[in-house]
Amino acid sequence: MTDFVVGIIGAGVVGLACAARLASAGRSVVLLERNSRPGQETSTRNSGVIHAGLYYPIGSLKATLCVEGRKLLYRRCREQNLGFRQTGKLLVATEPEEEAKVQAIYERGLANGAGELRPLERAEVARLEPRVSAISGVWSPESGIVDVHDLMYSYQKEAGDHGAILVFQTAVEGVERTAHGFELGTRSAGGERATIACRVVVNAAGLYADRMAEKAGLDIDALRYRYHWCKGDYFSLDSRLRGLVQHLVYPAPVHAGLGIHITFDLGGKMTLGPDTEYVSELSYVVDPDKRARFASAARRYLPELKDEQLSADYAGIRPKLQGPKDEFRDFVVEDAAPHGLPGLINLIGIESPGVTASEAIGERVRGLCAAYF
Ligand SMILES: Cc1cc2nc3c(=O)[nH]c(=O)nc-3n(C[C@H](O)[C@H](O)[C@H](O)COP(=O)(O)OP(=O)(O)OC[C@H]3O[C@@H](n4cnc5c(N)ncnc54)[C@H](O)[C@@H]3O)c2cc1C
Repeated sequence: MTDFVVGIIGAGVVGLACAARLASAGRSVVLLERNSRPGQETSTRNSGVIHAGLYYPIGSLKATLCVEGRKLLYRRCREQNLGFRQTGKLLVATEPEEEAKVQAIYERGLANGAGELRPLERAEVARLEPRVSAISGVWSPESGIVDVHDLMYSYQKEAGDHGAILVFQTAVEGVERTAHGFELGTRSAGGERATIACRVVVNAAGLYADRMAEKAGLDIDALRYRYHWCKGDYFSLDSRLRGLVQHLVYPAPVHAGLGIHITFDLGGKMTLGPDTEYVSELSYVVDPDKRARFASAARRYLPELKDEQLSADYAGIRPKLQGPKDEFRDFVVEDAAPHGLPGLINLIGIESPGVTASEAIGERVRGLCAAYF
């Protein structure tokens, strides 16, 4: 009746994790990606941080899937020898007004299951990070960094080893409900059109997941699924500053993001960012004129930093459900059955901590799909 049991739209880290889980569970899976390789969009334009689960409201999907996903992610990294480091992280308060915010995050993190967390006095922050200036902080040993390319490849390999078909350079242009599930209308880079029939569709289209849900027939305004893209720019630090910090260091968070933090990759390259800027166009160009603003934000906890030690680097765009004036919005991981489209599994608003949560999202999606097998 159908060509495949499951059709997945999008080969970012989340679509690939879903493909790995579903194919390992014995389902016939086709994954369609319009780019020529996996992870060309948000999945390779982020901080690569394994989040412990500190920030998100207790009981939210972001909290639950972050904590579950972090455990699965470390296990996968260890078992498959993926690039990662459990670096630990300091969340710091630089002014008395920030201490209540940091304390609230500490308490929320404990309730969320973010693992061991320890409040730090000024002297303990200085002992852990001699070049950081802060009046207090929180130590999160469960935080770390991962090579997201390695992670995506491990999901891709697992999916392929279990028979999933991954098709690149093929965009999904239409999603039609049929008597047996869905028909995906596709168009290849060469302009060739095809139709693929699936019992279930997983919409993992990242920055376009809202529009994909709309194409399938959902009223995304009524459901409050329309995105507010929010860009995050990064600046890299002069290579002579390698080793400036030994752990990830985050300031108290801001409205739509975690604040301009300092992270490093597995090669030791130090990076500041991301900031938050709501945008209407997709552009990954980093404005070099933001340099002074980035340096000044980071100098609050890294006082020795000089503007000229920063260079514009890369940017990522968050698929946010939360507009500039809105309160917290959670991940949407749901079967659209209550909206009249049973078997359309929507993954909408999968911003941070989507990398950390990827395998847990895949497991959740496998569970949702099971109703149709
Ligand atoms: C600035 C920034 C920093 C972040 N930092 C972190 C972090 O440190 N830790 C963390 O855990 N998370 C972080 N995140 C979040 C994380 O990067 C995302 O949650 C994750 O990458 C989302 O993956 P995805 O597969 O849903 O989306 P994407 O990676 O965007 O993949 C979606 C895919 O769908 C494809 N697609 C779209 N439309 C179609 C179509 N019509 N047909 C076929 N294919 C289509 C796209 O080409 C793309 O490849 C950050 C995000 C940003 C923006």
